Amino acid sequence: MIYLDNAATTRVSDSVAQTIYETLTEHYGNPSSLYAEGLASRKVLDSARAAVAKAMGCKPAEVYFTACGTESNNIAILGAARARKAWGNKVVVTGFEHPSVQNTVDALRAEGFQVSVILPNADGSFNTAAFLAAVDGQTVLACAMRVNNEIGTVIDTPALAKAVKAKNRRTAFHCDGVQAFGKHPTALRGDIDTMAVSAHKLHGPKGIGALYVRTGFNMAKTQFGGGQEKGLRHGTENIAYAAGFAKAVSEMGNSKAALVHVTALRDRLKSGVLQLEGAVVNSPADASPYIFNFSLPGYRSETLLHFLESRGVLVSSGSACGHGGRSHTLVAMGLADEIIDSALRISFCAENTEADVDVLLAALGEAVQQLQKKTK
Ligand code: PLP
Repeated sequence: MIYLDNAATTRVSDSVAQTIYETLTEHYGNPSSLYAEGLASRKVLDSARAAVAKAMGCKPAEVYFTACGTESNNIAILGAARARKAWGNKVVVTGFEHPSVQNTVDALRAEGFQVSVILPNADGSFNTAAFLAAVDGQTVLACAMRVNNEIGTVIDTPALAKAVKAKNRRTAFHCDGVQAFGKHPTALRGDIDTMAVSAHKLHGPKGIGALYVRTGFNMAKTQFGGGQEKGLRHGTENIAYAAGFAKAVSEMGNSKAALVHVTALRDRLKSGVLQLEGAVVNSPADASPYIFNFSLPGYRSETLLHFLESRGVLVSSGSACGHGGRSHTLVAMGLADEIIDSALRISFCAENTEADVDVLLAALGEAVQQLQKKTK
């Protein structure tokens, strides 16, 4: 099986699975307990936090473990906006965020916040000027993802956050860093106030994420419970998954070397795809090489996806969260229906090889020939 859907999730590495098993079986104490078993669990949690902080480029005290990237986005967005509602009621967000941002911002709209949604350009690039133009003295929160999960658009969020603060120094800046973590570094020693990441996109387990919160940043609480994670995210800590997350980040390796490798794979794929009649590339030219989106007008995404699956190649028709529905990013770009309905997303990890790409291209060539007979 050739797995090319790494933006949906990644294979849990063997050593991560081993670490989780060992932690589960050796450290069952509650980290809040005062006896030795509890203290041992607390130590595991502390060292996992230090490892994730190092990988994110921040202090351990600025890392909060959560259940997932979705929960990190929820806590940050609701918490930042609600803490500032005494002086402003506006939120600015890109038009191609993950549903965990989009729908959370919709919840703010229902609470009375005025939301400006900045659509991407038709080529999938980010409209920086429009985003900044929407920020004013009433803007409590600006949200932009570092890497788009459907087409791979990269936003220079550290620079964007700086420009936002230049317009209104009180505006909170939240970055969804889920697709970027371990692939496209995001400098946190500047104007980004909060950033969400998730373990399962980098060979860690599903069900644990982290939220960076800049020291001193003011947030309203969105959950209530026993006070774990300094009152931002309650519930007995999942130390086994925290240890697994830490193991995964310790194995991330050299992101520059991986980027070079994956860029070569993406370029090989792109030139092969462009030889297929009618193929259209939906990812912007300077997208992250980890995510490549294209369309084969005349063929339905789902049909193509299942054909590829029959050849042992797993890809996506959009974001996994869309359950195969129409890509909201491609819709936001204003693309034609025939492009949207025939889109495929290929997403790499550093483990993929040229041979994987060649098998995919051969299967696509076969699909175009065989499905043509059925559909045209
Ligand atoms: N943000 C982005 C950009 C994503 O791609 C995803 C997952 O696909 C998430 C957030 C949600 O992460 P999680 O699955 O850990 O909730």
